[in-house]
This record gives sequence, structure tokens and C-alpha cells, in this order.
Amino acid sequence: MTFDLLVRGGTVVDGTGAPGYAADVGIVGDRIHAIGDLSAADFRDVIDAAGLIVSPGFVDVHNHACSEMDGGILNIPDVENQVRQGVTTLIGGNCGGSPWPIGEHLDAADALPIRQNYGVLVGMGTIRAEAQVGSERATPEDIERMQRMAAQAMDEGAFGMSSGYFPDFVTTEEIAQVARPIAEAGGVYATHMRSEAAGLLDALREAIAIGERSGCPVQIAHIKCWGTRAWDKAEQVLAMIDEARERGLDITADRYPYVASFSGVANIVPHALRIEADQRGGIEHLRDEEMIDRVREGAEDFIDEVGGAQNIVFAPLEPMPDIDGKSLEQVAAERGEEPWRTGMEMTIRGKVSCIFFTMREDNVRAFMRHPAVFAGSDGHLRVLGKGVSHPRNYGTWPRWIGHYARDEGLFGVEEVVRKCTSMPARKFGLHERGELAPRRIADLTIFSWERIIDTATFEDPHHYPRGIPHVIVNGVPAVRDGEATEEAPGRVVRL
Ligand SMILES: [Zn+2]
Repeated sequence: MTFDLLVRGGTVVDGTGAPGYAADVGIVGDRIHAIGDLSAADFRDVIDAAGLIVSPGFVDVHNHACSEMDGGILNIPDVENQVRQGVTTLIGGNCGGSPWPIGEHLDAADALPIRQNYGVLVGMGTIRAEAQVGSERATPEDIERMQRMAAQAMDEGAFGMSSGYFPDFVTTEEIAQVARPIAEAGGVYATHMRSEAAGLLDALREAIAIGERSGCPVQIAHIKCWGTRAWDKAEQVLAMIDEARERGLDITADRYPYVASFSGVANIVPHALRIEADQRGGIEHLRDEEMIDRVREGAEDFIDEVGGAQNIVFAPLEPMPDIDGKSLEQVAAERGEEPWRTGMEMTIRGKVSCIFFTMREDNVRAFMRHPAVFAGSDGHLRVLGKGVSHPRNYGTWPRWIGHYARDEGLFGVEEVVRKCTSMPARKFGLHERGELAPRRIADLTIFSWERIIDTATFEDPHHYPRGIPHVIVNGVPAVRDGEATEEAPGRVVRL
């Protein structure tokens, strides 16, 4: 037997949670052919993994790779910020927004030199917009149209449907009905819940109801207690998830290992008011005399909920020197405004994102440790050094492993690897990935348990992590000796 690639002398941690063991991994083409003592085998290429952990590649089911900065994967297919973390498969289309049609997008991505595997969810927000349902309750005809689109997305390879940022006129029943064809096709329902703040428990109740009514397995996106009014709810959230699981619902959640979120500055202004301004002719109508008092009240309430304007830091998607990296408190002072007004003005400016320091460390840990929670980045593709970034775009996986598992002792290596690999892969139907075993596809991340660590911070976010020398995608090294290779072995994946 001659292997195309032999990974020699490492400790195999296979992703199932089973104890690690010394073994070689022999790869033929894009598949793992054998795991064991392969010292007598011939090989065309070899990677020395002595002293290193040989793990399945990390699977990020919560990513926004299809869109946002620089237009996403179609414009910047070969960026390294995910693969350098050990990510071998990304699922985009989260939080309700995705490309459309799915098949056309996937074909376009397939023709490009991507470094890791890439699949998508279809966003229900996108379906609703494409179906031109508008800012009102969907009619039975609307729902039928959306169901056909959901079924089409699944036919074209989506892994399920995401939702997020829905206003009140989108009812629980509407979402559950549109999710039905997703369930029939074996997809998941991944939700950025209606509230992660004061309304968190009601929002979770809704997500569970949608799963139970539609038949979809449920994925709670970036589970968190957002803001001061939700900080005491983590225990109840986890108890509700446990109860739903006991009733038979397949509900899990993903979590990034940071206490700050990243989202549009527009969150400062209540959603209903933004819609009202749009209906008046554009977002600048927030300044109208008939609206301004309500905008002020809503924005002040929001700033109170995050614990003050110092907890909101501007991180726009395009360089904006007057606000880049500064807090809302600071920018408001420089402009001689009250913070709520600066928040409104930045909402009107557009393309302004923020980092919101709104979570408590003990809650983050409680979520990470829960048996139904696994790793997910909520990240994006990023060009090194360009624009302000959330450190999760560079550090999610090494931080789960190096900081939380090794340094803080939250998990052993087998358990943290399981949460980065087989748990997300199984949940999303990536049955040939996420575990190391003969005949599985050869996606491998080879890292040092002693040295793996994130180096990107909120202040200085554009840094690749350390301690991940080799990443193999579909049998081909995408990262070797700590550097991205000339190869682009990623593929589009479809359910
Ligand atoms: Zn989200």
C-alpha cells in the first residue's frame, strides 16, 4: 500500500470523545485509508506529527462567509483566517440572510480557489424578501410560495434554514410552516432568536415550538445572555433546553468564546422605529420631529441595557477614521452629542458595525460547558489587517482549546475536540466529516496541545493563532508548517 499522504507519529484524537492514542493516519486521495501503526507503509508525502494532536478538522456551522465584508467568499475566496484556525468546513447563510438562489451561489463558489469546504443554510429573511411578502403578516399563498422556495433551497444543497431579526408581524406559525419542507428534506432550523436580552426565555420558547411544530432539529445560534437584563437567565435557558431534549427535540446551540458580540449599530434604535422610518421614505426620517422622542427613549433604554455607552465600540465594515475602534461614549463626546443621538446618526450613516461588550464570563462558561453546546464562531471571512474585526474571526477554535480547555481546565482534549468537530458535523448532516476513521474524508487539523492559542484581541484583532502547524482539507495540506499552501483544496458541500 502506498499512501498519498502519511501523517506520522501523532496522537489521534478522533472527535468522538474517545481517549487519544498514538497512531499514524494514512490518506489515499481525499479519504482516510488507515489509522494505526503504518511504519512499514510507503508514502508519496509525509507530515511528521510527533508531539502533536491529530484531530478531525474543525467544523464551523455558524459563519457568515457568504456575505458582508468584501462581499464574502465569492470576492475573497482564498482568505486564510478560517483555515489558519483549523477550520476545514464552514457553513454560511446564518441569522436569516443567505444568497439566493442557493444552487447558483454554490456553483459560483465551487469554481473558485477556496481553502476550506463551504456549505450554506438558506435564510428565511432572504426567502421572505425574495417572495416579496412585505412588512405584514404572510397570507396562506405567501406561505405556500415560501415553502416552495425552502424546498428548492434544500434541493439545491442547503443544510437547512436560518432565521433572525424578524419583527413581530412574522409569526411563530409562519416560521414553523416555512420550516416544514426543511424538516422533510432532513435540514436543520438554525435561529438567531428574536431576543437574546430581556425577552430571551420567550424567544427560546418560540424556537422550541418551531422545532416541535415543523419537525426540524433546532440549532440556537450564538447562545448568550445579552445585556444586563438577561444576565441572570443562563440557568433557566439551559434547563429549558434540557427539558426540550428530554421530550425528544434535537436542540443544540453554538457558542463563541468571547464576552462581546458584533452587530450593526442599528440595534441601538428599536426595530419597529427603523421600519417606520423606512416607511416614511428612508432611515434618515428617524430625525423627524414625530419620531425623535421615541428614538431617544428606545436608544437610551438600549444603552442602559448594555451597561453604558463605553460598552459599545465602533467596528465599521469599511474604514471610517472618525469612529474606528472608538467607543460610543468617546465618539459622542467628540461630537458634542448625547450618546443616543450619536447612535442614531451612525444608524443613518449606514455600514457601521459595533462590538458590544454585553456578556458575563460566567455565563459564557456555563454555555460552553453544557453538553448540548458546541463551538461555532459567528465569524466572517477577513482579509488580514483590513478593517476592524472581532477577534473571533481569527481565534475562536484556538481559544476554545488553548484558553478554555487547556489553561482554564474546562475540558480535556478529547471533549473539546468533540465540541469542535463531531458534534457540529453530526448535527448538520456532514456525515463523512467530523471524525477520524477509515473511509471518512480526510479533513484533519494537527495542533500542539501545549502551544495552541489565539493571539487576536479586541484591541488588535488581525492576528493568526499559534500552535496549528498543519491543516489538511480533502486529503491535501491547506496549511503546512504554519503557512497556507498554494493549494486551495476546499470544496462546496451540499446536504
Ligand atoms: Zn446572529
